[in-house]
Amino acid sequence: MTQTANQREIPILTYHQIAEAPPRGAVFRSLSVSPNRFRSQMYWLKRLGYLGLSMRELMPFLRGERCGRVVGITFDDGYLNNLSSALPVLQELGFTATCYVVSGLMGGSNVWDHALGVQPSQLMTAAQVRAWSDAGMEVGSHTCTHERLDQLSGPALQDQLQGSRQALEVLLDQPVQQFCYPFGVYRPEQVALVREAGYLAATTTRRGRVRAEDDMFQLHRIPVVRSTSWPQFLVKLLSPHENRYRDQAEAVHG
Ligand SMILES: [Zn+2]
Repeated sequence: MTQTANQREIPILTYHQIAEAPPRGAVFRSLSVSPNRFRSQMYWLKRLGYLGLSMRELMPFLRGERCGRVVGITFDDGYLNNLSSALPVLQELGFTATCYVVSGLMGGSNVWDHALGVQPSQLMTAAQVRAWSDAGMEVGSHTCTHERLDQLSGPALQDQLQGSRQALEVLLDQPVQQFCYPFGVYRPEQVALVREAGYLAATTTRRGRVRAEDDMFQLHRIPVVRSTSWPQFLVKLLSPHENRYRDQAEAVHG
């Protein structure tokens, strides 16, 4: 791959919780990145000359209308610890980020994970989601109830896509234009429905950096997990390393 091609590729980072890890052996412990490590990662982005951007602000770069050293920053599920532990760091650095909120579960917890044995973690209330938005951060939709979309069709699917967008727009009094597929699963024919539901882009759990020719409704991302060390973070960010996973189907958590 040529250097020029590399420069056109845009990394979008995926985070879940910014919190100390649950006890050793806990399920999906990897999805909690410690506040200190998150802070360090964001400061290194800044030092490397990157601007961390929400999906809304990343759009002109993804569309090829603007060029620059940018990285998308996304948080899945809408955890309260995104507001308490990630927001202050993002604000210190002048970065923005997108949090994909489960519109019907605000103020609740990650119930979709409980059956898997994952520890409950608090999701932002509606007021806290508004506070995230008022701070200049973006709110995207992660459906109403974190369903597997491949199991849904008709009005039930429509409600998860359009209903969640409309609920969040009423709450925030502004357009909600970004979507993220729960668990990263969907049927190919559902991609068009996401567009028709009023979104401008959608992210998946497929790995890799975004290329100019990529479908805006099936955007690849780069997962950052608890064990991601500083050298690994650099490799994920600066090299084509993550692209090796682009075409691999793998069990992932969204
Ligand atoms: Zn999720």
